[in-house]
Amino acid sequence: KPGLYIVATPIGNLSDLSPRAADILARADVLAVEDSRVTAKLLHHIGVRRPMVPYHDHNADRVRPDLIARMAGEAVALVSDAGTPLISDPGYKLVRDARAAGVAVTTIPGPSAAVAALTLAGLPTDRFLFAGFLPNKAKARADAIAELASIRATLVFYESGPRLGAALQALAEGLGLREAAVAREISKAFEETVTGTLDELAGRYAEAPPKGEIVIVVAPAGEAPPAAADDIEAALRDALKRLP
Ligand code: SAM
Repeated sequence: KPGLYIVATPIGNLSDLSPRAADILARADVLAVEDSRVTAKLLHHIGVRRPMVPYHDHNADRVRPDLIARMAGEAVALVSDAGTPLISDPGYKLVRDARAAGVAVTTIPGPSAAVAALTLAGLPTDRFLFAGFLPNKAKARADAIAELASIRATLVFYESGPRLGAALQALAEGLGLREAAVAREISKAFEETVTGTLDELAGRYAEAPPKGEIVIVVAPAGEAPPAAADDIEAALRDALKRLP
């Protein structure tokens, strides 16, 4: 059927492509893709060839109107290089404009590194804030972290190996003593999750930046506030007073 199909693809392990995703990819009239070489590999894996139109940060504004026009009569599938489109990837404006044009929008849900990392971290999942990529420059990064410092939700960041040490250091400085997890290469051969406090993790990765793709998960503000000695004494005095 004509319309826009948002298709989640694997974040590493090709077997994570759902049968429904494979079916839509095989039957779509055209695929809007971030990088045609990456999507070509996925199509090859399922033995399919489909026409592809590049849709990425640099051409999106230019090609979007044409894609929207095609959706009136054709099935257009949006895929990104890995995981769920729109999540730190292009796509939300395509969905917005498709809706405005009365196009049917369907999602084929599947892997996303943010949610996968949350399932590995062992930190609260009832409230989480996906913060995407931190800014590259030190000042902008520190400002972004300061804005998040009082939020009572688990924080999720995307990161790359070379920047991991600096990011953890900035998080340790801006958020203080908190438990955290670094999940790397999820669903791939060298998947690894390391947990510890932010400063422990910063120390571990300062010298040896790891390879691959990374998600940082940080415990919420106020989870286990380090008790000041004064508070402990006051609480003890209080408890003693209440003894019969
Ligand atoms: N749309 C994707 C999703 O749904 O997860 C995210 C795209 S974003 C441009 C790429 C970032 O996602 C990487 O820098 C990394 O932080 C994270 N990522 C993607 N695949 C991953 C994996 N297999 N393991 C850990 N992190 C991954």
